[in-house]
Amino acid sequence: MENYKLSWKNLIGHATTADYLKKNISGQKFPHAVIFSGEEGIGKRLTAEICAAALLCENQTDGEPCGTCENCRLVAARSHPDFYVVEAEDNKKTARNIKIGQIRDLQTEAALRPINSARRVMIIDGAELMNNAAANCLLKTIEEPPSQTIFILLTASRSNLLMTIRSRCMTINFDKLSADKIREFLISRGVEDLEAENLSVIADGSLGRALKLKEEGGAELRTSALETLEKISRAEFTSEDIFKFGAEAADWSRDKFADFLNHAQKILRDVCFSEFMELRNPDLAPRLGKIKIPERKILLMIETGAEIHKRLKSNANLRLLVEAYLFQLKKLFG
Ligand SMILES: [Zn+2]
Repeated sequence: MENYKLSWKNLIGHATTADYLKKNISGQKFPHAVIFSGEEGIGKRLTAEICAAALLCENQTDGEPCGTCENCRLVAARSHPDFYVVEAEDNKKTARNIKIGQIRDLQTEAALRPINSARRVMIIDGAELMNNAAANCLLKTIEEPPSQTIFILLTASRSNLLMTIRSRCMTINFDKLSADKIREFLISRGVEDLEAENLSVIADGSLGRALKLKEEGGAELRTSALETLEKISRAEFTSEDIFKFGAEAADWSRDKFADFLNHAQKILRDVCFSEFMELRNPDLAPRLGKIKIPERKILLMIETGAEIHKRLKSNANLRLLVEAYLFQLKKLFG
C-alpha cells in the first residue's frame, strides 16, 4: 500500500540491515530475542515496528508488510493485541527509567496465547533504562521464552545491559547515518539548504536528533552552549549569569540539558583538538578559533561534563545540576 507508514521504504539508511531482517522474516527465522543497538534517533524504533508489522501481517511478501490487512493496520495504530511496547515514561523530575511493574505486565502478557496472529512481538524501547530488578525479571522471560513470542530490545547503550541478557539475544548494530543522507532527507522535507546543511552536521549521524533540533528552533541550543563557553573564556561569566541560566533551564527537560551538555562537550573537544582531529562543528571554525582556554583546563572541563552527564541519569535536581556544571566551568577557567 502506497502510504503505509511501517514500510521499509520509509527507513532512511541501514539498507544492509533491512535486507538481512527482511530475509529473516520471509524465511521464518527471525530470532526470538534480538537487540537493536545504536544511537538515539537513528531508526531502531521504526525498524522494530516494521518488523512487528511484517511478522504479524497475513500477506507479508519478502519481509514487507502488506499494509492493508487488519494486522498491519492495528500494528500501525499501536492497538494490535499481539503487539506490545514497553518504554520509559518521560518525566521531568526524575531520570527516565523502565520500572519492574512494566516488565511484570509484559511477562503476564507474554504468557498468554497470541490473540489475532500466530505470534506476538514485544518491543522494549530503551532497554538500558531498566533497573536491575526489571532486567532480571525480563531475563527470566527471555530464558524461558513463551512460545511464539519475539522480543526486540532497543538500546543506545548496549554495554549497560546485563551481560546475561546480552548473551541471550542476537545483536544488530545500527550505524550512524552520513551527514549527506540526513541533509538530503531534510531538504526533501522542505528544509532550506543552508539550515539542512547545518543541522546535518550537528545531528552527528542521527536523523531523529536532526528533526528534534529542527523542532526546537534549529541550532539554538548549540549557539547557547557556544556563547556560554565564549563568555567563560573571556572571564565575563558571572554568578548572576549562572543563576539566571539555572532559572531558565529549570523548565527544560532532562533530555534538553543533556543535549546542551553534549554540544558544550563537542565544542570543548573541537577547541582542544582542532589541530589533530576533524572538527565536530566545522561551520563554527572561526568562532572556535577565538576561544582561548589552556588545554589542561579544557580537559578538566570535559571531565566535569562527563561527570554531570552521569549525575543527570540519577534523580539529582536538574536546576542544581545545571548550576553546579556552570560554576565548575567558571572555577576551572579561573
Ligand atoms: Zn498485512
